[in-house]
Amino acid sequence: MSQTILRPPAMGAVRIDDVFWSPRMASVRTGTVGVFYERCREAGMIDHIDPDIKDKPRRQLAGIHGMSAQRFWDSDLGKLIEMAGHVLLLAPDPALEAKIDAIVDKFGRMQQPDGYLNSWFIYQEPGKRWTNLRDDHELYCAGHLIEGAIAYWRATGKRALLDIVCRYADLIAATFGTGPGQKRGYCGHPEIELALVELYHATGEKRYFELARYFIDERGRQPHYYDAEARARGADPAAWHFGSYEYCQAHKPVREQDKVVGHAVRAMYLYSGMADIAAETGDAALAAACARLWADLVGKRLYVTGGMGPSAANEGFTADYDLPNRTAYAETCAAVGLVFWASRMLGLAPDRRYGDLMELALYNGALSGLSRDGTLFFYDNPLESRGDHHRWKWHRCPCCPPNIGRLVASLGRYVYGAADDRVAVHLFVGGEARLAVAGTEVRITQRTRYPWEGSVSITIDPERPVEFELAVRMPGWSPNASVSLNGRKLLRGDMVIDGGYARLRRRWSKRDRVELDLPMAVERLRAHPDVAEDAGRVALKRGPLIYCLESVDNETPVHRLLLDARAPIAANYDAALLGGMVRLEAGASAESEAGWNGSLYRTGPSGQSPATLRAIPYFAWDNRAPGAMEVWVRSG
Ligand SMILES: [Zn+2]
Repeated sequence: MSQTILRPPAMGAVRIDDVFWSPRMASVRTGTVGVFYERCREAGMIDHIDPDIKDKPRRQLAGIHGMSAQRFWDSDLGKLIEMAGHVLLLAPDPALEAKIDAIVDKFGRMQQPDGYLNSWFIYQEPGKRWTNLRDDHELYCAGHLIEGAIAYWRATGKRALLDIVCRYADLIAATFGTGPGQKRGYCGHPEIELALVELYHATGEKRYFELARYFIDERGRQPHYYDAEARARGADPAAWHFGSYEYCQAHKPVREQDKVVGHAVRAMYLYSGMADIAAETGDAALAAACARLWADLVGKRLYVTGGMGPSAANEGFTADYDLPNRTAYAETCAAVGLVFWASRMLGLAPDRRYGDLMELALYNGALSGLSRDGTLFFYDNPLESRGDHHRWKWHRCPCCPPNIGRLVASLGRYVYGAADDRVAVHLFVGGEARLAVAGTEVRITQRTRYPWEGSVSITIDPERPVEFELAVRMPGWSPNASVSLNGRKLLRGDMVIDGGYARLRRRWSKRDRVELDLPMAVERLRAHPDVAEDAGRVALKRGPLIYCLESVDNETPVHRLLLDARAPIAANYDAALLGGMVRLEAGASAESEAGWNGSLYRTGPSGQSPATLRAIPYFAWDNRAPGAMEVWVRSG
C-alpha cells in the first residue's frame, strides 16, 4: 500500500474556528441533528427497527407511508448516527448520545444470528433478502450503517455498533464474491464500496477492502447479474422501469465507463469508491476511468453551482449541455457526493482540478440544501425560481438533510490531506489542525475571513523542526494569487507550482507562517454556446461563491433585469445580511411594461430604464421573503 496517499485528517483532528463555517456547523449541531432525529422518529423509522414492536403495527407503518422509502430507512438512521458522531465531537450532548445509544441497542437486538441486519427484509419481507440488489438498497443501507458506526465509535469510543456492522460485513463478504456458492451481485445504489474502504481503515481488516474491490470490479460485467436476478424472481429484466443499467452505472464494467450517466447520487458514490480503490492500489486503469468521468462531468454536465443531474425522472443525467435552470433537479445529495468524490481524487495527488470543484460544490450546490438555521432542506436545487420553490421540513425520501448535515459537521476532514511527508491545504477555513507528518505532530493554524476576503494566514508549528512539503491550493479563479513565507513574498522561482498547488518543501520550524493573498475579482461567467438555457446570460462569481438575484433585494422583477456588459460590479460586506455576507451591486437596465397597453406581442422592443442589480450568494437564497431567484442573468 502506498504511503503517498493524501488521507483526510482523523475525526476530531481539526477544530474549526471560522467566520463562515462555525455558525453553519453550530446550526447543524443545534438544528439539523435534533430536527432530523425527531422527524425520523415521527415517520416511524425508529419503531421500524424495534424488535419489541409487534408485526401488525410495523406493517401498518409501511401502509401509512405507502411507498418503498422504508426499504432504505435504515440508511437514514445510519446517516443520522454518522451526523451525530460528528456533532458530538463539536460539543458533548448527553441527551443526543442517549438517543443514538437507544437506536444502536435496537439494531443490536434486531441483528439476526448470522449477522444479517436490514429492517425491511427482517420484518416486512422475510425470506426475500438478497433477491433484488438492483432496486432494494440492501447493501446501500449496510454502507450507511457502516459509516455511521465508524463515526460514532470514533466520537464516543463506543464500539457496539462497530461490532454489529463488522459481523454484518463478514456475512456480506461470505455471501458475495467469485468463490464457489457465492452470489456475484453488487448494489444498484453504490455506497457500500466507499464505506467498506473506511471500515478497512477503521479496523485494519484487509478483507473489507477486498470486498469493496470485488464490488467495484464486478459491476457491469456480462452475463449481467441483474438480468439473472430478475429472472430468478420471475421478472422480465427488459421490463425494468428505468430501462438501461446506465441508471445505476452498471451498463458496463467501471474501467470502460467514460460518460457520467444515470442517477447522479449513485454516480458520485460509485466514483468515490473507484477513486478510493485506485488510490489504495495504484490501479492505473481505474484512476484513468475516474479522470475520464471527471472530465466528462466538468466539461459537459455540471451546473455552475457544482450541482448536477438536471432530470427528476431519473434523478440524474440526461444529455451533454442539457442544464435547464428552473427545472434543475440538482439534488443536494449529488453535490455532497461530488465533494466526496473530489476529496478522494485529491487522495491521489494535490490537483486544483479537484480542489477547486470540491470547494465549488461545497459552498454552492451542497450548502444551498440547508437553511440558515439548519432546520429546512432543499432536495432539488434549481438555478431559477418564480418564487414557488422553498426548503421543506420533511420529504418522503429524506436522504438530503443528513447528507449535508454530516458533511458540514465533518468539514475539517476536507480542509487538509496528509501523507508521510506532505500536507495539502485544500480549503481555506479558520481553525487548528493537528496532523501527523514525517513522524511528528504538526499543528497548522489558519486565520482568514474567507470567502468574504481573500487573505489567508497559515501558521506551521511542528513539535520539532521537520522537513516536509506543504502544498497549498492556488484557486483557478485567482490568477494573481501570491504566497508569502515568513513575510517575504515568494516569486515564481522560489516555489514549485504543480497541479495548481504551491509546493513548499523545506525544514519547517515553530511559527513558520505562510500567507496567501487571493484577489477576489467578481467574475462574469458565460456558458458554452450549446447550453441553450444560458445563451446571452452571465453568472456572477466572487471567490468560490456563485451569486444569484432574489426579488427581495431588487425593485424590478429579476427576469426583467439586464446587466450592463461593462458596468463595474461592487462587492460590499453587509454585516446585517443573514449573519453577514458580501453582496454584489451593479448598474443594470430594467425592461419596462410602459406602452404595452395589455398586448402580449408587438414588433418593437420594450423601453428600458436604469436600475440597480443586487445579488447575494446562491447558497443563501430562500432564507428571507419568498420570491423569484435567478443565477443566470441576462447581460447586454
Ligand atoms: Zn438526497
